[in-house]
Amino acid sequence: MSLKEYKEKRNFKATNEPEGSVKKSKTSRFVIQYHQARAKHYDFRLEYDGVLLSWAVPKGLSIDPKEKRLAVHVEDHPIDYINFEGIIPKGNYGAGTVEVFDKGSYTPLKDMKKALKTGHIKVFLDGEKLKGGWSLVKIEDDNWLAIKMEDEFAEEADKASKKRNSKLPFTKCKLSLATLSQKVPKGKEWISEIKYDGYRIISYVENGKAQMLSRNDKDYTNKFKSIASALKEIEQDSFVVDGEVVAFDEKGRSDFGLLQTSIKKNNGDFYYVIFDLLALNGEDLRKRPLLDRKKKLEILLHKSSERLMYSLHVDNAEECFEFAKKNNLEGIVAKKSDSFYTGGRSEDWLKIKNVCRQEFVIAGYTTSSKNELISALILGYYDGEKLKYIGKVGTGLNEKDKADLHEKFSKITAKTCPFDGKPPLKSAVWLKPSYVAEVKFTELTKIGQLRQPSFVGLRADKNAKDVTLEVSRGNRDNESK
Ligand code: MN
Repeated sequence: MSLKEYKEKRNFKATNEPEGSVKKSKTSRFVIQYHQARAKHYDFRLEYDGVLLSWAVPKGLSIDPKEKRLAVHVEDHPIDYINFEGIIPKGNYGAGTVEVFDKGSYTPLKDMKKALKTGHIKVFLDGEKLKGGWSLVKIEDDNWLAIKMEDEFAEEADKASKKRNSKLPFTKCKLSLATLSQKVPKGKEWISEIKYDGYRIISYVENGKAQMLSRNDKDYTNKFKSIASALKEIEQDSFVVDGEVVAFDEKGRSDFGLLQTSIKKNNGDFYYVIFDLLALNGEDLRKRPLLDRKKKLEILLHKSSERLMYSLHVDNAEECFEFAKKNNLEGIVAKKSDSFYTGGRSEDWLKIKNVCRQEFVIAGYTTSSKNELISALILGYYDGEKLKYIGKVGTGLNEKDKADLHEKFSKITAKTCPFDGKPPLKSAVWLKPSYVAEVKFTELTKIGQLRQPSFVGLRADKNAKDVTLEVSRGNRDNESK
């Protein structure tokens, strides 16, 4: 067995396929890869004598013995190819996407060496999807036929297709959230992505329908129509993706203010930066390692609309953070490359910010003169059930903001102070804690209040009850000393 032809066809500086070598082993594995090249087909490979015997099957293996499928014998592939998934770049042999459709082990039902010689192979497949016996019969030259054997696993094709379950495995999901960290993590177990500043949205797509939900389960499908229709164009039965809807400024930075303007103007000028794939064609992927999920995601988004962007990552978090600082971006998110999508806040995902910035509950406001509607917002956060005071913000509020807020606030005024303990304020108009404001600040003072805060915008996508103080890991380390 030789990989000569395999190697001659490929330039390993340009493709990310494995170069590999002939490797004898005691295992008998098989893989079926879905290969979207110039023509879509399935590659059926059997581990044998140190290589993967390979056939390109245009229609894939059928489980109906009546359906004989053409299988074109192609060059042997290296054993390492068994796990290969990814994008073969343009201009290379087989350019397109490769995904593992099924894998498992097989048992030869005839001696393989003889079977290869006579051109009549019989194998029993024990895969995750496919099970049972198949024959491969040589017709002429490289043309073979793949035929399902009559056994308990055989089924009539039209009956089988009705049984296929590729529906969404779930229609609600707890978001994974990052923990704020002062330190940039080091080590090979971390990958890093740019932190985008927009609306965190999970999208559920099934049979040409899309639903886009924010982290507090508000439906944003109609607000982000341009993105919903781009998602619907992806040719898959069903999938769930997680990402951030953003608007970009002229320098290509995500800008939360700009996004809000775009939503108000309803101009459709936003993008969906997608960083995770939680389900695909009926399969729940949340307990797969992050890098596996991202690889599948990259393939899913390959050739999709430019409105959908795959969130790239790098291995070196420090380099990524330097890049973010240099380009005046909000920060980065470092993620453990083998972590599952567990939902909730965990230290598998860390956010490292370039500036301090988070959302706070608006608990009231102050006015400095009789004619002024609002001079500053009174802010707090929840510590368990208790609402704690953290300071006031007036900077960043323009007259229009003040008028808008004043109107909103008129419906939720409260008689009593909602804080746990009395904040150091002479006078205030108290509110029921309903609205959430995004605020930038330089640091927390010694008594735990905001220094130089500045108002960024209202966050309709977040619930007041969920707003807590994002104590960073760095700070917590110091406190425990
Ligand atoms: Mn192929």
